[in-house]
Amino acid sequence: MRSEFLPFSRPQISEADIAAVGEVLRSGWITTGTKNAEFEQKFSEYTGAQQSVALASATAGMHLLLHALGIGAGDEVITPSMTWVSTVNLIKLCGATPVFVDVDKDTLMTDATRIAEKLTTRTRLIIPVHFAGAAVDMQPIRELAATKNIALAEDAAHAAGTTYHGDPIGKHGTAIFSFHPIKNMTTGEGGMFCSDDAELAARIRRLKFHGLGVDAFDRQMQGRSPQAEVLEPAYKYNLTDIAAVLGSRQLANLDQFNQRRTVLAQHYHQLLADVPEVQPLRVPNYEMQHAWHLFIVRLDIDKVGFSRDEFMQRLKARNIGTGLHFKAVHSQKYYLETMGAQDLPNTEWNSARICSLPLFPEMSLADVEDVVATIKEVLTA
Ligand SMILES: *Cc1c(COP(=O)(O)O)cnc(C)c1O
Repeated sequence: MRSEFLPFSRPQISEADIAAVGEVLRSGWITTGTKNAEFEQKFSEYTGAQQSVALASATAGMHLLLHALGIGAGDEVITPSMTWVSTVNLIKLCGATPVFVDVDKDTLMTDATRIAEKLTTRTRLIIPVHFAGAAVDMQPIRELAATKNIALAEDAAHAAGTTYHGDPIGKHGTAIFSFHPIKNMTTGEGGMFCSDDAELAARIRRLKFHGLGVDAFDRQMQGRSPQAEVLEPAYKYNLTDIAAVLGSRQLANLDQFNQRRTVLAQHYHQLLADVPEVQPLRVPNYEMQHAWHLFIVRLDIDKVGFSRDEFMQRLKARNIGTGLHFKAVHSQKYYLETMGAQDLPNTEWNSARICSLPLFPEMSLADVEDVVATIKEVLTA
């Protein structure tokens, strides 16, 4: 057994990252300012996005998007139940109705055919989720949304560095990234709203800081200029410069991080090939580059005779951490009680069987070997 606990995720922070943050802390300007502008600029360069707006979280970006689109009572928003709770919570909180769409059994991603079946005259927005670092097959979904004149926003929380048909996620349409500590790059907490709709991005920029039409930095630089007035009531979702400088540094290393994740994922695939009780997700066969945000396996609970939760506990007892991405949103207390049972067979099948194995750039190949050896041990224990 390992003597040290192996967490399922760990942010990769270098001494140079810490030094850059220290420099901002000493500079006299720590909230939204030049470091935010630099981070947004670099993120646009990396993704090819026309507009990037740095925010306090991806959840904040989703909230501002729903507000900007004026989504509320009587409106429907289509999204998978196999997602993080934040999206669905916000749809609920703005008074709209979440409409859950099922996912592919082996990629955990939805598609245009499944989404088309959920469209009604009330559908206002579709939020597909790029899952685990793979790309959703966006082209058919883009065509569907354009034909029906319905807004489309990609949940790109897992997709920093993912490409689709050769283009980075974020280049086309609207995509929202997360920089929570478990994601492929982190700012502690943070997010980025990317869009090729300049008007929408400008609105998000205004909504992120009290609806003033300027941010804290502009206010400082311009003094109490007349334009610092409320143009519309809004929120307080700006990112600090302390976080933004870390974001720029992490972004510069993102490809390197993701290459390392890819090597580790390949090692998992090789070693797990002879462990039929745990099945990794399938990598989609359309053209994309995987960012390997998560390495998810499905436990054959019928064959092994114990639950996924038991599997996770047994691994933890042997110093291997795991994660659960995700427990289907519709199966969680509030949604089960208010919305009732849903017909989402692939989502439910996976929700009972999925488990995220340790995967982060600082891991060694020996760590991967430890995880697989321990899995074999708990399967026979
Ligand atoms: C992490 C995550 C979010 C939320 O990101 P925050 O920055 O924590 O708000 C949204 N969707 C998915 C799929 C996520 O994994």
